[in-house]
Amino acid sequence: MSKVTGWLTKKSSSSMALGRTLLGSRPGLKIVLLLLVPVAAVLAMFSQAGCAIVVGQEIVAVASDRGDAEAIVQDYITWLEQNSELPVSINEEIKYRAAWRLQTDNRAEIRRQLAQKLDYHFGATGIYVDGNLVASVKDKVTGDQVINKLLAVYSNGGQWDVDFKQNVEIKPTQVVADKLMDVEETVEYFRFGGKGVRTYQVKNGDTLWDIASAVQLPVDELVLSNPELQPDTLQVGQEIKISRTTPLVDVITTYTDTHQEEILYRVQEKVDDNLFLGERKVVQSGKPGQREVEYQVTLENGMEINKEEFKEKIIEEPVHQIVAKGTRKLLAFRGGSGRLAYPTGGGIVSPFGSRWGRSHLGVDIAANHGSPIVAAEAGTVISADYQGGYGLCVDINHGGGVVTRYAHLSSSAVKSGQSVERGQFVGRAGSTGNSTGPHLHFEVIVNGVHKNPSLFI
Ligand SMILES: [Zn+2]
Repeated sequence: MSKVTGWLTKKSSSSMALGRTLLGSRPGLKIVLLLLVPVAAVLAMFSQAGCAIVVGQEIVAVASDRGDAEAIVQDYITWLEQNSELPVSINEEIKYRAAWRLQTDNRAEIRRQLAQKLDYHFGATGIYVDGNLVASVKDKVTGDQVINKLLAVYSNGGQWDVDFKQNVEIKPTQVVADKLMDVEETVEYFRFGGKGVRTYQVKNGDTLWDIASAVQLPVDELVLSNPELQPDTLQVGQEIKISRTTPLVDVITTYTDTHQEEILYRVQEKVDDNLFLGERKVVQSGKPGQREVEYQVTLENGMEINKEEFKEKIIEEPVHQIVAKGTRKLLAFRGGSGRLAYPTGGGIVSPFGSRWGRSHLGVDIAANHGSPIVAAEAGTVISADYQGGYGLCVDINHGGGVVTRYAHLSSSAVKSGQSVERGQFVGRAGSTGNSTGPHLHFEVIVNGVHKNPSLFI
């Protein structure tokens, strides 16, 4: 009993001795121990030392060790590449260093942190126009397909030569988004992606609808591009902005256009003294020739901008027409025959010139009383009245200073100022005035001078 008690006593006293040793005999340690309690609690949140993934100056995530950290980064990059089907590069250097690591082994959580903090881009292929990046596609094969499709639009099924007006290059580029346009989308973008603006000047009487129809745009779009526009108060000369889609690259098409054409013949005139002035006679008929001509045609986005003849082959030379042209000056050539018409049916019974010591100013033509008298040429009646010794007399002006006179008529069928045609009935023969019997006294007066009518009829 006492032994047990003694053991208990001993145990108890030794315990008390320990207590005295720690807390009683060294009081400074008591404070240290009390401070260690919260530190230990904090340390308990970290299981052990790990490896930090550092981008720039910032710890992005902490993995268990260097190998694990590198594997996580590599996995993430691989995942990005598989997802986008594009190569990925990290913009900043990734460093690894020892660090306390949070009690997490969750790789998904570490990847999420990487995704938030890691700055990367995708390797893509750029289509450059005159040095400027216009579109990015997945790879060179895609870029080449875009180029070929853009050119094919204007190649007439591959029969015509096509090239870009601008310098177009395909070369590697970097993009931040992993969503890239496919071939069709890129082609559409190049063809219609640009906005061109030109202006239309309002003309007198234009309505907005006229303008829309003239520029081939819906009215809504016109209004959209001209927000300040008041459709019912259009001013002449006002400028309206016409915006339309334009291609981002222009395609130049060239081709050769060969076809046969007629060669027009020329008309050559030659002088012929035997023909009256104003009379023309075809000496040699003209005949068109034939030639085969090659044109070099240039189009820009399908619109013809140039057409140049560059080769010609004559198949048949043209035969030029030769026309003889009269020079013989005769009166009243306008009638076509070049001569005055005979004013009545009979022959000349008394010539022009001196007669019985007097000058006869015309010719006398045999005619019965009442025989029809016709105009020797087209003209205008100057007078149709009694004129002294001429009796009833008709004078006709034919222009060009030429006048004809028909005297001793029994009646006249025309009035002063009336137009008459060549051969038109103007009156009837008679014997009025100073006349010995029915006949026609006919005169030709040129610029006021009496001429011998025999030379003209
Ligand atoms: Zn006479």
